Amino acid sequence: MIKQNINYIQQKIENATKKTTYSQPVTLIAVSKTKPIEDVLEAYNNGIRDFGENKVQELSMKYEQLPKDIRWHMIGHLQRNKVKDVVGKAYLIHSVDSLRLAEEISKESVKKNLDTDILIEVNIAMEDTKFGFSDYDSLLTILQDISILPNIHIKGLMTVAPYTENPEENRCYFSKLKKLAVDIMQENIDNISMGILSMGMTGDYEVAIEEGATYVRVGTGIFGERNYNM
Ligand SMILES: *Cc1c(COP(=O)(O)O)cnc(C)c1O
Repeated sequence: MIKQNINYIQQKIENATKKTTYSQPVTLIAVSKTKPIEDVLEAYNNGIRDFGENKVQELSMKYEQLPKDIRWHMIGHLQRNKVKDVVGKAYLIHSVDSLRLAEEISKESVKKNLDTDILIEVNIAMEDTKFGFSDYDSLLTILQDISILPNIHIKGLMTVAPYTENPEENRCYFSKLKKLAVDIMQENIDNISMGILSMGMTGDYEVAIEEGATYVRVGTGIFGERNYNM
């Protein structure tokens, strides 16, 4: 089933890529949270190399047990006291939502003598329940503050759009995130790039790609429903 799901989604991604005016390369991140090692391996054996996890402990455990050419994406809310367990393991941290968190990632990266790539999380629909920045001025301030920290590099923006049955409802949020990235590039801040836009999930990844996504994070669509009581 996982194999068929991946083939289906990759076809959809290819079709959506043809529709976009941005002609950006799109990478599928298989969100494997709560799913067992065997499921991850099945996706791996069908060509997937990018996997997303939302908990540090689960990411670390899977990192230890699975092939080393996997790129692990930390996509969930990250607490500062967990930073030491994820720096050096995560290929990209998508969910940086405060200066203090970025400072901790920088500090830990210096300590381990490596560089960590991050995305800044944007609360694009300004939902009370979501993490991330929601106004342009605070976003600019944090970008400037992080850009001068050592061993940490901003590569773009990430958002978790509202849950909806109708993906068209999220189109405006995806285009808004794209526009934010374009506006930020024009500010010419040193040491930051806006090349990555991480947006779109099982319900709305095609629309996200049409609006400029470079990473889509798909869980249920690949692995099926999650059971949180396991
Ligand atoms: C769980 C999760 C996803 C995947 O959600 P699906 O709807 O199962 O595709 C994507 N992004 C984040 C941040 C998540 O926590």
